[in-house]
Amino acid sequence: MTDWIDYESDWAYYIDSQTFNMPKVKGRIPRGSVVLTKGRETLDTGMTVVVTSYGIAREHGVDDLGGKKKASKALAKQMLDYMKQKGQFPPGTEIKKVFKNGSVDVGYEASDFDKFSIRLIPELVGGNVEDFLDSLEIAGRRKFNPTDEWKIELAKSGRAKCRTCGSSIAKDTLRVGEPTYFQDHLNYKWHHFTCISDTIWGIPQEKLTGYASLSEEQKKELTRALWE
Ligand SMILES: [Zn+2]
Repeated sequence: MTDWIDYESDWAYYIDSQTFNMPKVKGRIPRGSVVLTKGRETLDTGMTVVVTSYGIAREHGVDDLGGKKKASKALAKQMLDYMKQKGQFPPGTEIKKVFKNGSVDVGYEASDFDKFSIRLIPELVGGNVEDFLDSLEIAGRRKFNPTDEWKIELAKSGRAKCRTCGSSIAKDTLRVGEPTYFQDHLNYKWHHFTCISDTIWGIPQEKLTGYASLSEEQKKELTRALWE
């Protein structure tokens, strides 16, 4: 349920905490939103620049936050709510920096001109921030769905090079064959299983030829890496 307040401005935007989009203010804004009000200022040099002031929508109107830092702090709480509710990163965000004390800075590009650095601290998240963000990334992963069948097997020799990391694939280690066509002839590009597993995460088992011939232990390894 969104509570709206009436608010008029010639040139302002608000960050919608439900979508993390930044629409233009047109007569009303959801309560609690961070509001960016724009204005022009002429410098001594005669150049005109756009200045932004940051506020937050309260019941009675928009309160000035007194700077971008406070706006980022307000956004940190909203971002965390978004993440917990939807199980994913909001659009326009990426991890920028992980600190030794357990905090993580998430970059958020609301627009080309409005970029925030949002610090998620363990106290706010209620636990390990990195683990929390990892769990979102896994939940948001798209299942890989290849058009052709891929292959999994133990390397028959140590001659093939991994096309992901470039080093050779030792004999008897798990390797994955990526189907590739050369003049209508099916061929395979080889990868270490551990190098390609994230890329092919969620691949349907029937599209991975050779799975049935693996040992129980190897099957377990695959299941952990690809289907969990
Ligand atoms: Zn490799």
